[in-house]
Amino acid sequence: MSKTHWITHYRQCQRKLTSLHGYDRPIWLQHLPIFERKVYIELKPKRYRCRHCEGAPTTTQQLDWYTPNSPHTKALDHWLLKMLVNPTVLDVSRCCQVGYDVVEGCIDRYVDQSVDWERLTPFTTRQRLNVNGVFSMKQQRPLIRLEETVNAQATLRLFDEMQKAQPRGTLHVIADNARYYRCQAVSE
Ligand SMILES: [Zn+2]
Repeated sequence: MSKTHWITHYRQCQRKLTSLHGYDRPIWLQHLPIFERKVYIELKPKRYRCRHCEGAPTTTQQLDWYTPNSPHTKALDHWLLKMLVNPTVLDVSRCCQVGYDVVEGCIDRYVDQSVDWERLTPFTTRQRLNVNGVFSMKQQRPLIRLEETVNAQATLRLFDEMQKAQPRGTLHVIADNARYYRCQAVSE
């Protein structure tokens, strides 16, 4: 792949770099598959020299369609993120023909590791949001209800949804020792 491209001496003099110094070693980037065949793009990043800065330092061009040190293009990253809606990391790794680490790397790049509390409006002490849910071991996915209070009625509503999600067969529920799980209506 070759393309005429100019870059600026980023973070330093900001000047346009036109003096080509050479090429870096080629890198292979996995791209979106075509007819389920793996596709790689070979790229030799251009290296430029800045004659205006002291010591005439060289700098490598950065293209906007891949992240440095990522083994694949941003387009593949975005596809993996879409494929991650519902399936597990292992499912996506197998289905999209990329390694498990590749999918994890993609998640690390695009999904925040912690909550930015500054961006959230805090709840007042009177408001409460209760998350009531179960995790299906078989389907490897959660079933979640938001409730004002988690009590026996809320538990029954959750059980109704579980029955809708799995209308046939037997549902095995492992619950903790909360009082609302042990009341008569729930046990029945
Ligand atoms: Zn410069």
